[in-house]
Amino acid sequence: MFEFLKHITPKIKILFLSLFLILIPGAIISYLSLKSIQEKADNQRIKFHGTANLVRDKLESKLYQLETNFRNSVMDSILIVERETELQDLLQFLDLQYPAISNILLVGNNGELIAGLLTHGQNGGSSAEPSSGVLKKIFAQAEKKEFIEKNYTGAIELYRSAYNSALSLQDKVNIHSRIGRNYYKLSRFKQGILEYEKILIQANETTSIGNIPASIVALQQIAEGYQEIGALNDRNKILLDLYQLLLNHPWDLSGGDYLFYLNSVSHEIHSTEADLMDEMRSLEERILDQSAYIHLIESEILGGLMSELKHLTSSEIIHKSYQAGPGPAIDLAYFTIPPSIKQAHLIALAFQFDKDYLLTELFPRELAAVALGKDITVGILNEEDSLVYLQNDLQLSSYLVAENFTQKLIPWKVALFDSTGKTIEQLSARERNLYLGLFIGILAVMLMGIVILARAVIHESEISRMKSEFVSNVTHELKTPLALIRMFGETLDSGIVTEEDKRREFYSIIRKESERLTHLINNVLDYSRIDSGNKEYEFEKTDLVAVIRHSLEAYKFHIRDMGFEIESKMPEDAVMILIDKDAISQAFLNLLSNAVKYSEERKHIRVEIARETNSVLISVTDQGIGIARDELKKIYNKFYRIPNDMVKKPRGSGLGLTLTRHIVEAHRGNIEVDSEPGRGSRFSIRLPLT
Ligand code: ADP
Repeated sequence: MFEFLKHITPKIKILFLSLFLILIPGAIISYLSLKSIQEKADNQRIKFHGTANLVRDKLESKLYQLETNFRNSVMDSILIVERETELQDLLQFLDLQYPAISNILLVGNNGELIAGLLTHGQNGGSSAEPSSGVLKKIFAQAEKKEFIEKNYTGAIELYRSAYNSALSLQDKVNIHSRIGRNYYKLSRFKQGILEYEKILIQANETTSIGNIPASIVALQQIAEGYQEIGALNDRNKILLDLYQLLLNHPWDLSGGDYLFYLNSVSHEIHSTEADLMDEMRSLEERILDQSAYIHLIESEILGGLMSELKHLTSSEIIHKSYQAGPGPAIDLAYFTIPPSIKQAHLIALAFQFDKDYLLTELFPRELAAVALGKDITVGILNEEDSLVYLQNDLQLSSYLVAENFTQKLIPWKVALFDSTGKTIEQLSARERNLYLGLFIGILAVMLMGIVILARAVIHESEISRMKSEFVSNVTHELKTPLALIRMFGETLDSGIVTEEDKRREFYSIIRKESERLTHLINNVLDYSRIDSGNKEYEFEKTDLVAVIRHSLEAYKFHIRDMGFEIESKMPEDAVMILIDKDAISQAFLNLLSNAVKYSEERKHIRVEIARETNSVLISVTDQGIGIARDELKKIYNKFYRIPNDMVKKPRGSGLGLTLTRHIVEAHRGNIEVDSEPGRGSRFSIRLPLT
């Protein structure tokens, strides 16, 4: 089937074979591999997205589970709450119970809010008005004495007398506060302080002075008293108590009075008890935060929320993001409270996730159970896409993939990071480049292999071509002298030729032809010896000039017969040198016979021996066809013959120069050629003298 291949040159054959059998399949495999790498990269991207989704779902389901539990707890506990004041305790309890949830607010159907940290208005306490008519009268008289007559001692007596008529705790607190006030006006601060201290002992959560919890007022007054009498240590201690009380019993949801007290006391305190203060300050911060939050909800969100709540029937948890003012959006979650429960005036409960807690506690704990392998790390990005949490405390900036949490629940993203900080593009590019490099390397090796193979095959086929040419040349060269020898031998043998001159001529022809034959056979035999490594030289100190002269003499007449002019220049003295004389003679004769063979019209040969400092130069110069520059290197190759178009193409084996060079090199010499096509060649053998 590959018949047609027979007629194609080896070069084309190799090209064809390498193209079809190596390069095309190689290219196809490379293309398919690159494609599969691309697919792998795509698959990896999909895989990363899938993993990020899984992680996101896990965290999200935790959040959903958490808020569902929270809602159930709220429903269960609201059921057992009896009094409104307990609602606040409930919120505080929930706040502690659910650290992941913060800023819990109960919404009443009139838009009033109940918060865990702050109470709404006064503590539902009794009115500051005196409870009995008698008391009212005495108070009026005492106030007259105090404010109009400025008779503070009288006022104090009147207030003391009212003490018996005081029915409620609130009455008693009022009396103590008024007596204290008058003592202060009299600058009798110590007595005043005593009165206020009585309030501290008696007051409970419901007592108040002028709408402000009685204990707060009493402590504040005592601190002022101490300040007046210069008891600064005592004053500071009282201020600290007051601060603590304010922090533990914040009461004013709208912020007003309460924040005023809190700010001024917090400002006054320069405590030495640093630990205690740190704790208090963080509580203060929470209260201030919640107060700001409540304020924002009241002023910006509550209106819209109320109308939404009216339409809401189911108890599902709604997540909304409110843009209130220029600051960040407020994410609020809420659910309605069914009207069937006792606290019928409550319609909903709103809350937020405590982001700090999620990032520092909940997510790290949940993610610790997610094993993604050592190369992948999970991080959380916030709404501005900046990293707010990263597993394993790594420092990475670019992520592989990121997946949003369900909007409204929490406006963040779950991101996967490569632990070396690479992006997905960099990861796949690295792999692609690696494979690409590998393929290019393999292709290069393949190409190199093909080139080497092609060269070897071409060389071998050239050699085999030259060999067969050699065989036909040598056969021809053997046959011609043999035929001549035989023909002239037979003629002489038959006795037909009688003239002495003729006979001598015939004998001479037979001798010359047999010499040529010997030369040829010597060349072939020597080549085969050299080729098999069996050639041995016999060196002896010889006069080189004599050897060359003798060889030249043997052929001189014959060459002159062919119309050549021979010019020779040799030193008069002997040049003694260590050589194998037969070999050197053979080398010289090869050059000489080439000069004869490759000359056309200009039949001029010059043989020269020149003695130099350390060497001797034997050169043979002809004016023949010359050798092209790019052939100069090849002529020494075995069997090589330059294809030429001489009219009478000379016979030859392609071995002459190969042998000559070998012989010269065996004598530690070298051979050079200086030639120009059309003008002639000069071959020089240089042999070292020592
Ligand atoms: P060949 O038997 O063919 O002469 P050689 O090895 O002696 O083999 O020479 C190799 C080839 O070099 C020859 O075929 C011929 O083309 C070229 N060559 C050798 N000597 C000469 C010369 N003096 N002038 C031109 N070409 C030469």
